[in-house]
Amino acid sequence: TTDKPSNFLEQIIEKDLAEGVVTSIHTRFPPEPNGFLHVGHATSICLNFGLAEKFGGQCNLRFDDTNPEKEEQKYVDSIQEDVKWLGFQWSGEVRYASSYFDTFYEWAVHLIREGKAYVDHQDAGSMARNRGDFKTPGVETADRKRSVEENLAEFEKMRAGEYEEGSCSLRAKIDLQHPNMNMRDPVLYRIRKQSHHQTGDKWCIYPSYDFAHGQEDAIEGITHSICTLEFQDHRPLYEWFIENLPVPHKPRQFEFARTNLNYTITSKRKLKRLVDENFVTGWEDPRMPTVSGMRRRGYTPASIRKFSDMVGVSRTDGIADISMLEHAIRDDLNQNAPRGMAVLNPLKVVITNLPEGEVQEMTAPMHPSKELGERTLPFTRELYIDRGDFTEDTTLSRKKFKRLVKGEYVRLRSAYVIKNDEVIKDENGEIVEIHCSYVPGTVGENPPEGVKPRGVIQWVSASHGKQVELRMYDRLLTHEAPDKGEEDFITHINPNSLEVKQAWVEPGLADAAPEQGFQFEREGYFVADRYDHSPEHPVFNLTIGLKDTWAK
Ligand code: ATP
Ligand code: MG
Ligand code: MG
Repeated sequence: TTDKPSNFLEQIIEKDLAEGVVTSIHTRFPPEPNGFLHVGHATSICLNFGLAEKFGGQCNLRFDDTNPEKEEQKYVDSIQEDVKWLGFQWSGEVRYASSYFDTFYEWAVHLIREGKAYVDHQDAGSMARNRGDFKTPGVETADRKRSVEENLAEFEKMRAGEYEEGSCSLRAKIDLQHPNMNMRDPVLYRIRKQSHHQTGDKWCIYPSYDFAHGQEDAIEGITHSICTLEFQDHRPLYEWFIENLPVPHKPRQFEFARTNLNYTITSKRKLKRLVDENFVTGWEDPRMPTVSGMRRRGYTPASIRKFSDMVGVSRTDGIADISMLEHAIRDDLNQNAPRGMAVLNPLKVVITNLPEGEVQEMTAPMHPSKELGERTLPFTRELYIDRGDFTEDTTLSRKKFKRLVKGEYVRLRSAYVIKNDEVIKDENGEIVEIHCSYVPGTVGENPPEGVKPRGVIQWVSASHGKQVELRMYDRLLTHEAPDKGEEDFITHINPNSLEVKQAWVEPGLADAAPEQGFQFEREGYFVADRYDHSPEHPVFNLTIGLKDTWAK
């Protein structure tokens, strides 16, 4: 429970429970298995499962699988995995709209018997013309006047595969003059001679979304059927079916605004294009705004749930700022991720007062405030620091450059203060390595009088550290509204959204479990790649930088 004011859906549910309209609530998340789930779906999952959790109700996971040509088992599998990963458990078994096809068929026959449905032999073009538009009333054709017996026989022929795809459909007989176009004799069944991933070749007619959705809700005992705003105009039809069919239960539909995010595409169709045309490595590419892409990028379920809370539930469309999502993950990792050290542009440091072969074990906390234990860091004669952390420019002020300057001191994180004594260069004047000496007694202790380190920098043992692959990801799209303009959204793909680098890391990091996230101190948040990381070939993905570099 939270003390913040509840959103409009929570208010509706509170009222329904208080007034006894329902005794408990039952929601559902109803994806069509025609792609991987994206961040928008994640907010819908959090909303539907979250409401059930909050009010002690239940939430179903239902595949709205009425469109065989675009659906696949691999999407069914990934969707279940995503919902579980986000931390939710559906009530009972997974449901499939396709498992109700027999009932839908019976209900279609019921409507025909009642004189409320007919088989229409118009093709799509003439059907659209004869339906009219908001200024023009629809036109009644001969098929609409056919008898119940003829319609029963025609529908049976449709089901038996005697008609070609597109040659006819079953339509509800409602009102061709209705001001709401959805009520002008909507299509209930269309012919699709396609195998279905669940029902095989049993059917060659498939129900429309409108004829399926509310009836699925009714069969499952859904109390609050929450969908996005574009279905608001379909609500009268949703209710018409519930009123005119022998349903076991009467669900109600409520609408909320889709989650749109700047710099982000939230359309499965367009995301599929990125995959099919190889702009990314797949649906799970860490640059994809899919749940599994975000997962591989290093986002945590907690951060996505937090983001979903931040976006909230609205009744009007808006565009959320991607920096909210980035803030949620940065915050989560800052609070919870273990620390590690990585050197991206190595510069060799020789500690001249430490004999070759000697290893001193330093200890460092895994996290500055959270009790996550300690790690050991081998301190050896040869180390790496980042090239950017050393300069020969002795004129730089202490304030401007809090790192190592020629002839000066710096502290190595969780180890000694060191002093630079010599700079070794090649014939071109490039720095090859630097020679330093450590100041004894400075581990975890203040340095003696006169020794003034400018700052603290990260380091890795050159002999004991591990070389790793870093995949430095950036936003995939550079335009704030990539798919809202006239131009193809593909033109807004960031050509530098992935840069692969080699880096040196402290030895323990090679043994990180896949999907373990870290803060590499002073560099950013990284995650061991879910699929490609191994102790032999460590791979880390940049989840997010330490600071928002896109902020204006
Ligand atoms: P897409 O256009 O990406 O294919 P969709 O709405 O067709 O999206 P469905 O599989 O039908 O995808 O969606 C399952 C559920 O997720 C629906 O209840 C839908 O309303 C919800 N949903 C989809 N996209 C968003 C979004 N951007 N924000 C919030 N909810 C969404
Ligand atoms: Mg849909
Ligand atoms: Mg869709």
